[in-house]
Amino acid sequence: MAERSHKIKIKKPKIAVFSSKSWVLNSFTKVNDDFNFEVAYHESRLYEKTAPLAKGYDAVCVFVSDIVNAQALDILKKENVKLVALRCAGFNNVDIEKAQELGIGVVRVPAYSPYAVAEHTLGLILSLNRKLHRAYLRVRDSNFALDGLMGFDIHNKNIGVIGTGKIGQVFINLMKGFGCDILAYDKYPNEEVKKQGVKYVELQELYAKSDIISLHCPLTYETYHLINEYAISAMKDNVMIINTSRGALIDTQAVIDGLKSGKVGYLGLDVYEEEEELFFENLSDTIIQDDQFVRLQMFPNVLITAHQAFFTSEAIHNIARTTFENIEEYIKTGKCKNEIRPQKR
Ligand code: NAD
Repeated sequence: MAERSHKIKIKKPKIAVFSSKSWVLNSFTKVNDDFNFEVAYHESRLYEKTAPLAKGYDAVCVFVSDIVNAQALDILKKENVKLVALRCAGFNNVDIEKAQELGIGVVRVPAYSPYAVAEHTLGLILSLNRKLHRAYLRVRDSNFALDGLMGFDIHNKNIGVIGTGKIGQVFINLMKGFGCDILAYDKYPNEEVKKQGVKYVELQELYAKSDIISLHCPLTYETYHLINEYAISAMKDNVMIINTSRGALIDTQAVIDGLKSGKVGYLGLDVYEEEEELFFENLSDTIIQDDQFVRLQMFPNVLITAHQAFFTSEAIHNIARTTFENIEEYIKTGKCKNEIRPQKR
């Protein structure tokens, strides 16, 4: 493993922030009043071609669409960058092994508001069930007919929750408030969750019995395309699938086939497996080239939001503060409680 260069004394960390939008700039600038770091904001994503923009900076700050692969990391190393600070929880877009090999630290914001994501998940469920997105458009057009808008009582339904970490647990409590039965699956079942009366089951049972299935596990080599044609075929007819976690948990073609056959009755997405090319930008004047995404947009029973589940004022403030704290801790000590290490396979 390469020697970590943090031992060089750095007075005031210099950070290059990538994929910066106005809300990033506003929240970071406010929180930076307490830290006084030197910060450069770049609208562009970090990837191989833009990585040289980090020249002269100690840390790069990145988000979900930045591509911090081996090639980008090699350039960051050449430019003497010591730290990749993710301003999100998921880290599937960073080559953690390569970063460790190069002696570049990787830190993240493990929790900033599980409520934000869990509440958005509930919003997708309610909108899809009662077709609020379609009702809104109808009423705006003075079409007050109810045909096609019938929903179902969520009360008493079986909710399958895959991943019972911070967000999954908040979501479970919200659904319990509706009088639902929870069927949970997690690679590492949580004793506290069990004590609260939640039943852990195997995936096959969760698929077979759930009316609504919501994904709250990370994207890893194990969970890639977890929801594929086999999983979908094991589900109840007319199942509702909600993904506010990471796009590649779902095999897009398999879910399109499920929607076309009527097996999948509702699909709510806040994430999409090819979202890097689409989300966070205004593409309303361009022709979308991703045919699978355009197909998904055409279904009346699909509701897509563009990775906004985290987007509450509380969450954004917490993200900015933890990101600055992570950078300060790492640059000062060479360690950080929120550092990510390669996972053992
Ligand atoms: P967490 O780490 O608290 O919980 C994740 C849970 O998944 C853990 O209980 C873990 O044991 C479980 N898990 C790990 N591997 C698994 C597997 N193979 N199968 C089933 N379960 C597995 O994370 P969290 O804060 O609850 O976040 C969950 C996910 O939500 C994140 O990984 C991230 O991808 C996503 N997220 C999305 C947004 C958004 O804006 N849409 C915002 C934040 C987080």
